[in-house]
Amino acid sequence: MTLIARKLSAILQQIRTAEWQAQRKGHSVELLAVSKTKPTIDLIQAYQAGQRHFGESYLQEALFKQKELSCYQITWHFIGPIQSNKTRPIAEHFSWVHSVDRLKIAQRLSEQRPAHLSPLNVCIQVNISNEATKSGFSLLELPEVIGKISCLPNIKLRGVMAIPRPETDFSLQKAPYRQLYQAVKALKKPELDTFSFGMTGDLSAAIAEGATIVRVGTALFGVRN
Ligand SMILES: *Cc1c(COP(=O)(O)O)cnc(C)c1O
Repeated sequence: MTLIARKLSAILQQIRTAEWQAQRKGHSVELLAVSKTKPTIDLIQAYQAGQRHFGESYLQEALFKQKELSCYQITWHFIGPIQSNKTRPIAEHFSWVHSVDRLKIAQRLSEQRPAHLSPLNVCIQVNISNEATKSGFSLLELPEVIGKISCLPNIKLRGVMAIPRPETDFSLQKAPYRQLYQAVKALKKPELDTFSFGMTGDLSAAIAEGATIVRVGTALFGVRN
C-alpha cells in the first residue's frame, strides 16, 4: 500500500465517522482530491486506490495533467480563481466548476460549454466570512444570483462553495457553514443539492453542517511547496 493510499483510506474513514456523528446517511459526502501543485504520479496513486474526483486550481497545470492522465476515468473539478479570458478551456475540459464568483463568468461558461457535452456542473462561491480579500458573492446577493445563473442553458447550477476564514475551534468552524447551508435551504430549490464545504483543517465541522463535497489536499498529498 502506498502512503497516499493509506492517507486516502484514513480520510475516507474520517468522512464516514463525521457522517455518522452528524446522523447523516453513509456516503452522502464525496471526497474531492485537491491535487494542485502535485505531480501526476501522486494522482495515479490516489486513482489506483479508488479515487475518481480530482480538483485543480491552476488552469495550465490542470490541462497538462488531463493530457497525461487521459486514459484514466477521472472527473475533473476546477476550484481556483477564474479570469474571464480563461473561461473557454474551463468550459471545455471540466465537469465541475466550484469557484464561480461573478455573473459574467457564469454567462461565459454557459456560452462556451461545447454542445456535445452535458451541462457544466457549477457551484457559486460565497464569501461567507465577508473577507475583503476573498472572492465570492455575499449572502445577501445569493437569491438574485442563483435566480440568474439557474436560467443559463448549458450550466447546471448545483449549489454553493465556501472557504471560510480558518479557525481551530470546532464550533467556530461550523458557524459560517451553518449560516450558508440555512440560507440556501431557505430558497427551497431542491436542485441545489451540493454544498462544497470543508478542507483538510475543517472537514468534520463542514460535514456536521451539511457538506456534500469536501475538498482535501494537504491531508491526502502532503503540504504544498
Ligand atoms: C487548495 C484548496 C483546497 C485544499 O486545501 P487543503 O487545506 O490542502 O486541504 C480546497 N479548496 C480550495 C478552493 C483550494 O484552493
